[in-house]
Amino acid sequence: MEELKRAVLEKGIVVSNDILKVDMFLNHRIDTKLALAMGNYIADYFRNKRPNIILTIEASGIAIAITTAIALGNIPVVFAKKAAASNQGTDRLHANVHSFTKNKDYAVSVERDYLPNGSRVLIVDDFLANGEAMRGLIKITEYANCTLCGAAVAIEKAFQSGGRELRNQGVDLLSLCKIKSIENGKIVLED
Ligand code: 5GP
Repeated sequence: MEELKRAVLEKGIVVSNDILKVDMFLNHRIDTKLALAMGNYIADYFRNKRPNIILTIEASGIAIAITTAIALGNIPVVFAKKAAASNQGTDRLHANVHSFTKNKDYAVSVERDYLPNGSRVLIVDDFLANGEAMRGLIKITEYANCTLCGAAVAIEKAFQSGGRELRNQGVDLLSLCKIKSIENGKIVLED
């Protein structure tokens, strides 16, 4: 998606050879025009699969999950929570995820009632690296007896294994911008 590729090249900040900071438009300050365009793009790709719930993970996936959900006709967005709080219900679906950026394991969970049996789930997230977050969300979708329509990420770091593994597994995975490599501070995109 050209607008996103431009934003990545112009506003992305290389933190190291495998981490990119996109706080200027996606992870801290949100470019709402771009977020709307991303939502429309994802919705157009998956519309014929008739998703009726978007599943994401807090916090950075939420903005594009919402714009996608609006473009699909105002379907609900459910975001997996990373921390347990006392006001959360007890009937929850859990998955363990290893955080690539924080290098630690954490549990993500969704209250079972918010993913009714038989729902058609589209997963949306900001980044795909090794696929840990995505695999956690897929597990939760399966525990909830829902159908996975596919998954969309804004930025796939194609030099990490997540995208390849998920596609091999048969997941219909859409990446709006694929990064081939980050070398000596330079971002190289795939065509
Ligand atoms: P994965 O679970 O695929 O290994 O990593 C994806 C998750 O880690 C995303 O939800 C995202 O929040 C975070 N992440 C992975 N790589 C990056 C990166 O280069 N930059 C940022 N900002 N987040 C990343």
